[in-house]
Amino acid sequence: MRQDLESLKRRLPLLDYLRRQNWRARPVGARAEYVGLCPLHPETHPSFYVNAAKNLFYCHGCGQGGDLLRFVQLARNLSFPKTVAHLKQLLGAPEPSPEDALQEAIDFYRQQLEQHPEAMDYLHRRGVQDPRLIQQLSIGYAPGGRLRRHLSERGYPADLLIQAGLIHQGKDAFYRRIVFPCWEEGRPINLYGRSLDGAPPHRFLARPKGGLFAWSLAGHHANVILVEGLFDLAVLWQAGFRNTSCAFGIHLTETQLAQLSERPGRTVWLAFDSDPA
Ligand SMILES: [Zn+2]
Repeated sequence: MRQDLESLKRRLPLLDYLRRQNWRARPVGARAEYVGLCPLHPETHPSFYVNAAKNLFYCHGCGQGGDLLRFVQLARNLSFPKTVAHLKQLLGAPEPSPEDALQEAIDFYRQQLEQHPEAMDYLHRRGVQDPRLIQQLSIGYAPGGRLRRHLSERGYPADLLIQAGLIHQGKDAFYRRIVFPCWEEGRPINLYGRSLDGAPPHRFLARPKGGLFAWSLAGHHANVILVEGLFDLAVLWQAGFRNTSCAFGIHLTETQLAQLSERPGRTVWLAFDSDPA
């Protein structure tokens, strides 16, 4: 994150930004310093200084000072994430999409898994032990209460996080959950979260789940094993049954049924639990 911001400030120096906004200044002394009228408060005598070498400003009139991000926040009255988004847009970077936010969340949750032994213990107790499989499935851990801030610091505006389903009623959607990402053609489309404790055990983000899990891999096989849950799938994959897919429950959607029947002569083995769920 810090590197992101440093690179942003390098690519768009404060002085360039101000000149784009028609700030007029004259050099002061021999150093890379400039002075002009303050864009942040009304004045008739210039008291706004920019040190181009340090990439910082200071106004002796209103007492404000800082870097490019601080200036944009004050001048445009933007939140920090919106400031970052605004600057990235100026530099021609594409606007982040909800899928970008999901991908960032997946990366964050993967890091968290390594830092939370209780989550790793839970995975082990459920029979998921192979580190390569954990990596391949991008399994992570949502401790709760940290994702929103993490993504805000990376410039994701709150409305985008709500749209992605990652934030619900102002909070992280997932608390103390093992997280399995669901993919469609290599793009994340949803996250499944399994609670470590008393909360409702199974939860997805409020967005489409797509078709059968990892169908681009499992669907190549003539015989397919279909399971209810992602832990069942992980355990079977770990045992070498890569022809296993998951329907996220026992009620198949039309898309999932179409996927299963797209290949004539395919055998589908249902390995559903006998419990009523
Ligand atoms: Zn000022």
